[in-house]
Amino acid sequence: MDKKVRVRFAPSPTGGLHLGGVRTALFNYLFAKKNNGTFVLRVEDTDQNRFVASAEEYIVDCLNWCGITPDESPSHPGSYGPYRQSERKPSYRKFAEQLISDGYAYYAFDTTEELEAKRKEFPNFQYGQATRMQMRNSLTLTISEVEALLAAKTPHVIRIKVPENEVVHFNDLIRGDVSFDTSLVDDKVLLKADGMPTYHLAVVVDDKAMEISHAFRGEEWLPSASIHILLWKYLGWESDMPSWAHLPLILKPDGHGKLSKRDGDRLGFPVYAMNWADPKTGDVTKGFKEMGFLPEAFINMLALLGWNDGTDQELFSLTELEQKFSVERISKAGAKFDFEKAKWYNHEWIKQSPVDSLQLPVKNELLKAGIEVNDNTFLNTVIDLIKDRCTLLPDFVAQSRYFFASPTEYDIASVKPKWTAEKADFFNTFAENLTLTDAATAESAFKALAEEKGFKPGELMLPFRIMLVGGKFGPGVFDIAILLGVEETKARIAQAITAFNS
Ligand code: GLU
Repeated sequence: MDKKVRVRFAPSPTGGLHLGGVRTALFNYLFAKKNNGTFVLRVEDTDQNRFVASAEEYIVDCLNWCGITPDESPSHPGSYGPYRQSERKPSYRKFAEQLISDGYAYYAFDTTEELEAKRKEFPNFQYGQATRMQMRNSLTLTISEVEALLAAKTPHVIRIKVPENEVVHFNDLIRGDVSFDTSLVDDKVLLKADGMPTYHLAVVVDDKAMEISHAFRGEEWLPSASIHILLWKYLGWESDMPSWAHLPLILKPDGHGKLSKRDGDRLGFPVYAMNWADPKTGDVTKGFKEMGFLPEAFINMLALLGWNDGTDQELFSLTELEQKFSVERISKAGAKFDFEKAKWYNHEWIKQSPVDSLQLPVKNELLKAGIEVNDNTFLNTVIDLIKDRCTLLPDFVAQSRYFFASPTEYDIASVKPKWTAEKADFFNTFAENLTLTDAATAESAFKALAEEKGFKPGELMLPFRIMLVGGKFGPGVFDIAILLGVEETKARIAQAITAFNS
């Protein structure tokens, strides 16, 4: 019988969540959904130097915002815990020592100073096949020396003993057969001097303990796979090893190298899912959420970075992705990140989202701009009228401000040169007789009066728009007038005539 599908997203809680990390989480999630499996969040917090306490909660918030909530996680554990790597600390040493007694690992007592001296002497120094026999470790010391050092609690690490001249093969679901020459792999540390495992040991022990069936992770982990495969073998667990899928890199917009946070800072776009406030410096790095992206659009854009369904379709809801996702259609080649394309997704999602689902995010944007809206029916009508013009959520503020307060400034330059007393007279008469039952009737009345007064209606439309809106933008001007109502429209005409005349 096939193994039950269990996948994991295994971030290190060190800072902001890069969009590549969210895509890894998403592909794991989609694979789980497609296969009735379980999506696990495992927090890989064994690197005490890089650990940031607030990062775990932040990662959970990001996943929740994206709508890809894990089935099992530190705060919602299943029966495969602990879900924080550091909490499994006592069990790692046992496995590291098992590897030593089986001849696959060794104690290394070299001090930091000794290692630094070696690195100075040999700039490309690697602790491994060529050098291990010149170092202070249990391969070069006698058993009694090693026992004495251990008894004296001498600081030490445990290193894997990578075999010489072997070729390690594994099957990657995306890349097919992948092989490594072990003579190029160094003796990585498995257990650190503080007793914590390194990522390499922890990832294998945890994937085994949590019965992970498939591991989707970024291509940057491909070089580490050789160590992981060896460990699965050396620990005697090969038949339980997960199937690997190394996802293509997300590249800089110009295609040269992996997209980094620095690229976002340099080119003015977010790279993190949500705002990240560095607890040390207080610096805030902007995220997609706070830039005004809808989670549906963000997820949709990420899914298409390295995957497609084989057609030209670009817009997918999460539910649709859950049904259509397939590993076979993940590409090997890196995917270029394009912020303009990301915005295109958001624009499309705003256009196709039902007004009700936009209400809350738009309300929040308006509130941030000091506009408090209590009439939801009115707000919904406004949203419906302007949503096609909005790419990011803050655009709703600029596009709708005039519905909640009359303009405080006018685009005078667009009106003034052609403004005449006759035009003022037209608008006064129009306002006096104003009825606003529906946009089409209002427009006919406007045009009829214009003709009667000897104007081409076109010459009056722009001033009318600027009277109501303040600028040359917005939906149909009669639609705007209908929403504002007779009294407000009249008041705005009067206020604008004064401004245009002066
Ligand atoms: N902790 C690793 C990371 O931060 C996980 C890599 C893996 O999935 O094996 O991405």
